[in-house]
Amino acid sequence: MSETPTHAEVIVVGGGINGVSTAFHLAKEGVRVLLLEKDDIAAGPTGYSGAIVRQHYSHPVTARMALESLRFWENFAEHTFGGDAGFRQVGFVLAVRPEDVPMLQQNIAMQQGVGIRTSFLTPEAIKEIIPYIALQDLGGAAYEPESGYCSPVLAANSFARAAQQMGATVLTGHRVTDFIKEGNRVKGVRTPKGDFYADKVVLATGPWSPGLMRLLGHEVPITPARGKVVLFQRPPHVPEHPVYGDFPYAFYMRPETGHQTFMGDLGPEEAKDVVQDPDDFNRRVPLELIHDYGERLVRRFPVMEDVRVASSYAALYDITPDWHPIVDRVPNWDNVYLLAGGSGHCFKLSPALGRRMAHLVLHDRWIDDEPHLFRFHRFQEGDLVRGQYHYSILG
Ligand SMILES: Cc1cc2nc3c(=O)[nH]c(=O)nc-3n(C[C@H](O)[C@H](O)[C@H](O)COP(=O)(O)OP(=O)(O)OC[C@H]3O[C@@H](n4cnc5c(N)ncnc54)[C@H](O)[C@@H]3O)c2cc1C
Repeated sequence: MSETPTHAEVIVVGGGINGVSTAFHLAKEGVRVLLLEKDDIAAGPTGYSGAIVRQHYSHPVTARMALESLRFWENFAEHTFGGDAGFRQVGFVLAVRPEDVPMLQQNIAMQQGVGIRTSFLTPEAIKEIIPYIALQDLGGAAYEPESGYCSPVLAANSFARAAQQMGATVLTGHRVTDFIKEGNRVKGVRTPKGDFYADKVVLATGPWSPGLMRLLGHEVPITPARGKVVLFQRPPHVPEHPVYGDFPYAFYMRPETGHQTFMGDLGPEEAKDVVQDPDDFNRRVPLELIHDYGERLVRRFPVMEDVRVASSYAALYDITPDWHPIVDRVPNWDNVYLLAGGSGHCFKLSPALGRRMAHLVLHDRWIDDEPHLFRFHRFQEGDLVRGQYHYSILG
């Protein structure tokens, strides 16, 4: 048996989708990577994610990143030596109120401009895609035939495996508890199973990031908050639907295996359901909220009247003030980087985010052809990432 390496060029802390994507992209560049995960790959929020892959963003930079990532998910096996992300291209419909149609159309035009296959649907055209939809309160929709969703646990494990195939070491069950510091550098990390050393360290630690960043002298504006999911068993006569987002009733849904529908909230209110300890929080969804989800679902899809609740859970969003991640070198430290604050929508972007983080680590600058939106200091500079939509997981 080969010995566990204790030295690497880059240590990535965190085996969620963004940590494994970063490790993958670094390994692809020939970097000796060591990934340390406290539990298992995708054991954190990634494993509970809707993993919806849509391109509807309201900022050209994030829209381009969504498109880049979509192409990656589509060709995942090719990129990852036969890996499987469970990507299913079922299409995406985002339906809005009549008064929101001009904004939606402007957004669709921007997205078409960056190369996204998307178009405007009249209410009648929405019915061609989802015949059993009730059209009240709807003025139209955006439609992306190429979008869909992944299997998040499969995707993260396939990414990790591909990184290993390129020489990365992945150690699960290794919780980083402290940093070994020397001047303004971190020489390594401490875990209960021993110390590990590297030239550079990337933190991709989701809602645990504020705790680790405190050890580096930073209060980082990332708030762990509960995102609530309900899985409904569709009645046998209700066929599969595409991924669907509903502005008027503020929900999103996608198909799930076993004739189920995975449903979550689209509004910004979930940011208020703050959690103090990401290792110990209430995972239950209150019964009133389950009923509320059911009511919204049936109002839009009356044929679902007989849906049954299959299961429900709360998992953590790591939310920043502008609902966009921080992807940057950590100030005051020459060799530590942070990729966190996915704010409930950064599964889909992980191929693009991991590529950018790997570039930043290797070259100490953002990729050349794009403004660096996700800077650490943007909050204190008042230079938030602003799209067309109010802040929420929609971006
Ligand atoms: C309910 C829900 C639905 C969502 N739906 C979607 C969606 O449809 N589409 C989409 O694009 N996004 C969605 N998201 C958001 C997306 O899932 C997240 O942005 C993404 O998974 C975050 O991945 P990550 O790698 O940044 O962090 P995480 O998944 O949080 O992973 C961080 C990892 O770091 C590990 N870790 C933490 N501290 C330490 C330590 N000290 N030492 C070692 N390891 C440590 C944790 O165990 C964890 O595995 C959803 C999120 C939730 C909660």
